[in-house]
Amino acid sequence: MKFCTLCGNKLILRIPEADDRERHVCNACGHVHYLNPRIIVCAIPVWEDRILLCKRAIEPHYGLWTLPGGFMENDETTQNAASRETLEEAGASIEVHDLYSMFNVSHINQVHLCFRASLTSPRFSPGKESLEVGLFSRDEIPWNEIAFATVESTLRQYFADMPTKEFPLKLGDVIIGPDKRRIIRAHNFIHDES
Ligand SMILES: [Zn+2]
Repeated sequence: MKFCTLCGNKLILRIPEADDRERHVCNACGHVHYLNPRIIVCAIPVWEDRILLCKRAIEPHYGLWTLPGGFMENDETTQNAASRETLEEAGASIEVHDLYSMFNVSHINQVHLCFRASLTSPRFSPGKESLEVGLFSRDEIPWNEIAFATVESTLRQYFADMPTKEFPLKLGDVIIGPDKRRIIRAHNFIHDES
């Protein structure tokens, strides 16, 4: 961020009065441009015992599989974001249920939310951002080709919960391990990578 979106003048980094960290502040009009985490919302669209996944047609992780989801827009609810993204990426209509997982992804300033959802019919087709869309049971999931650590962890927990028919909220953090790998630090569930 280099220029003020209000007046076009140059921004400088300084700690505003009564603040405790550097912000981008406009040298001319004094406006403080805050940078805050972004929210990524996914749906877990279920049909019988299968989950709808999309094969990504965009970077990052082109060609890998993920739950339908994306950046929340202004003027929408998190639930609306989940159903909008599912329609855009998978051509599928869903009914959105409870929040299932929430991950802090602090190293890239993101929060990932996944909502449980039901497909209203087994009809879907890939949108512009997907190469392919399909329904997968636990045994059919391409576990080695999942795009994001938060999605993989959510899917593993979901299938583990499925027989109990209870889906308590899962809270976790994604942290960078010593070998630069992404590690899930689970707060209230047992994270199993196998
Ligand atoms: Zn300004």
